[in-house]
Amino acid sequence: MQKCLIISFDFPKSEYPKTSYAIACILAKFSKKNIADIEHCQYNLKPYVFGTPKNEIEKKIGDNFKENYVPKLNDYSFIALSAYAWSENLVNFIIEMIRPNFRGKIILGGYEITALSKEKLEIIYPNVDFYVKDYVEKSLELIFKNETTDKIIDIKPDVKDFVSPYLSGILPLNTKKIHWESKRGCIFHCDFCEWGKATNNMIRISDRRIDQEIELFKQNNIQEINVLDATFLICKDDITTLKKLLSIPSCKINLQMHFSPIKNEIGSEFLDICQKHKDRISLEFGLQTIHETEMKILNRKNNLEQVKSVMKELKERDIIYEISIIFGIPSQTVETFKKTIEFIEENGCKKFCAFPLRLPQNSKMAEQRKELKIKEIQDKSFSLNFVNESYSFSNSDWETMYQIADDYAKVPLCGDPIEAMKPVIDKIARIYIYGGLHSRFREYRNENTCRNNNNVSIFWRL
Ligand code: SF4
Repeated sequence: MQKCLIISFDFPKSEYPKTSYAIACILAKFSKKNIADIEHCQYNLKPYVFGTPKNEIEKKIGDNFKENYVPKLNDYSFIALSAYAWSENLVNFIIEMIRPNFRGKIILGGYEITALSKEKLEIIYPNVDFYVKDYVEKSLELIFKNETTDKIIDIKPDVKDFVSPYLSGILPLNTKKIHWESKRGCIFHCDFCEWGKATNNMIRISDRRIDQEIELFKQNNIQEINVLDATFLICKDDITTLKKLLSIPSCKINLQMHFSPIKNEIGSEFLDICQKHKDRISLEFGLQTIHETEMKILNRKNNLEQVKSVMKELKERDIIYEISIIFGIPSQTVETFKKTIEFIEENGCKKFCAFPLRLPQNSKMAEQRKELKIKEIQDKSFSLNFVNESYSFSNSDWETMYQIADDYAKVPLCGDPIEAMKPVIDKIARIYIYGGLHSRFREYRNENTCRNNNNVSIFWRL
């Protein structure tokens, strides 16, 4: 059978399966079909998040690849690489090593590929045979079966193309925490997010698969499920799914939310469940900003009256939740950023998470770089750029915004003082990769406890 090598560059989370959910879905799709034998080569980028220079990372990964894969390159008919914003240089570095001797086809997939136009793809990632946009399961099947000659493949998959990585046994259920999905895609199109740009539709996983997976999670005593759905609550079906998830004994459920569907009967029923199971459900709402001009630029509209009313209800019901916001938005200032944080506090939310803005390559903001006077700062380890200047704020304002969020994130007398002294650019990619600056309003946190027990504080020991 023909062989395919899939190469990914990941930041695996401790306590979760080592293979990423996205790659596991591909492995699951082809595991029982006689189409291609897929081997996964995963490069863990976690050891490099503390500022290893790009060329050192390339050298380490390159040496490993040379030793383990270059001698047998032509055993494979296909080599597929997953391209994300942080791995552009690594993907190209590996392609340069492969191309001269490899006689098979090189395939690229991932959000970066979906986000780029044909012209840009060929400039940024030259020497590639197939660029796969959107979800790759169906497109890979066509490539493996030699049923397409299109260089750019953009096929809308069907739910039957999605195979469960758990039911197929690809992801062993030997961790307490897992990632899981009940639907793919997103109905929103935020300009700062590759996911919104990546898909035009939302596909629900079948009830049958959900029931079987949940049964398996019960048997394996899974204790925490991080639901990957871009927005969990869309309609009544999601309430049914949540009830099923809650039937797994003592399992915690983490959900990403949008404020807008929390209204009418679905909203009340959802909040009733969250109130009843407040110790087991954790909610993260995307707000990003409260300012009209910033919302417009982000293409993320919030109805603030509705947001306030949902927050009021969450507070009355004593449901703990987190709100995510962005700093570095063109048109934002230090003052407007502070006002967004004040809004969160005044309306009774106890925690927020601040993300630095990154521009997806096909975003309107990227197109308007000149008019918005956007400047970006480049991370030294990964191919990640962050907006650190625009017509409305300077680099020093951007650093102040970071500092404001960081001050909320720090627990007094805790944390590494050397880390605290580092310039923002040395920390920003790590913060982005690990899900933003998680901040709390002081009155709600235990002043005497370090937030991260692994983080032994020098101050603490003094
Ligand atoms: S930020 Fe969230 S809601 Fe917006 S497009 Fe991305 S996934 Fe969808």
